Amino acid sequence: MSYVSYSYEAPESQSLFQRASVVTPGGVNSPVRAFRAVGGTPRFMASGQGPWLTDVDGREYVDLVCSWGPMILGHAHPAVIEAVQAAVVRGTSFGTPGRGEVELAEEIVSRVTPVEQVRLVSSGTEATMSAIRLARGFTGRAKIVKFAGCYHGHVDALLAAAGSGLATFALPDTPGVTGATAADTIVLPYNDLDAVRTAFAAHPGEIACVITEASPGNMGVVPPLPGFNGGLAQLCRDNGALFISDEVMTGFRVSRAGWYGLEAAHEGWAPDLLTFGKVMGGGFPAAAFGGRADIMAYLAPAGPVYQAGTLSGNPIATAAGLAQLRGCTDEVYTTVDRVAAEVSGLVGSALAKEGVAHRVQTAGNMFSVFFTDAKVTNYDEARRQESFRFTAFFHAMLANGVYLPPSAFESWFVSASHDARAIERIAEALPLAARAAAEATAPA
Ligand code: PLP
Repeated sequence: MSYVSYSYEAPESQSLFQRASVVTPGGVNSPVRAFRAVGGTPRFMASGQGPWLTDVDGREYVDLVCSWGPMILGHAHPAVIEAVQAAVVRGTSFGTPGRGEVELAEEIVSRVTPVEQVRLVSSGTEATMSAIRLARGFTGRAKIVKFAGCYHGHVDALLAAAGSGLATFALPDTPGVTGATAADTIVLPYNDLDAVRTAFAAHPGEIACVITEASPGNMGVVPPLPGFNGGLAQLCRDNGALFISDEVMTGFRVSRAGWYGLEAAHEGWAPDLLTFGKVMGGGFPAAAFGGRADIMAYLAPAGPVYQAGTLSGNPIATAAGLAQLRGCTDEVYTTVDRVAAEVSGLVGSALAKEGVAHRVQTAGNMFSVFFTDAKVTNYDEARRQESFRFTAFFHAMLANGVYLPPSAFESWFVSASHDARAIERIAEALPLAARAAAEATAPA
């Protein structure tokens, strides 16, 4: 089929990938970029403009990855570029406090009510790692609860996602994470409040915090069932643990105030700590964690829990992040929501037309497709999908100029810059991709 052969017609990407593979493990600086889940040569991108990416071979794609979430205004947005250009000529790093950090922190605090104080860091991984250390320092407890299928960055203790059943002590998911590090991590099935109740009962006074993606996007999009997040907050309160809502992906993307704004704000409960990244960095390395002032006061230099960073609050990153957040107006969220609804609707219709078993799951303006008939509420269910169909679907979309996340277990992202021409490209690519999915056969 043409889409299969096309994936090998990327000579410049292929050549760069070969060179990269000599000097970098697997040829990439973050594993999922390597196309291992779908096969083929990763596309090396040369530039981006609005909803479009151009690869080093000069091919243009509609981008449905948006740098894994950050680019909510589209690529090279004029306001962000202008802010970066203005900042960069003033110097790139001072190792002192600066105005940009204050303004970005104020913007975050003004958007997300439970965030009374915030500490800036450089990656989502740092944000969750620091939030957990703070929770342990604040409570004086060691154990943490996380959910299978939730990704919180490559923090050692949070890479323990293996094990199932109630209060399973996790085995590390990767060599290099010691059993001792993972031993204080309890991994539970997502959307299962009873499992959390049982874990608290089994470990009275030992659990420092429960951390969850505010609405998971790292096993595909699996939204919390009604009452799940609120129930977690209540169970944490009842048991003297902190509730950490990881909004690295959802923060400032699904609403002005992230998932908190879509759910908790209306239900009348609040996380104790929240973590942020992606959108708030405007495409630069900026992330944050924040929450209750009495907890944040435990952080050095105000308190005893150490946390630091040479490039934390970097002036270019904060300028980009602030420009992007200020650009994220109510109109922008309305547009992103509309584009997401339109694109996810087109995907569902195309697959239905070819009789492909699928579910399009949405959480605000995040969405993904599971190749299964059954509703997906946790990681085990997500893994039951026919992901070989996604591989065929992915390559057909790529061949026709649409860049999807190269894995069936990732959220798709759109931006406010996805216009009629971009959506038309997607609509044109979908019939062939849906047919490819229908015709795909499971690997022997
Ligand atoms: N938390 C969540 C929910 C994420 O989706 C990610 C990254 O995808 C992280 C944390 C880690 O962020 P980073 O890749 O910036 O370290």
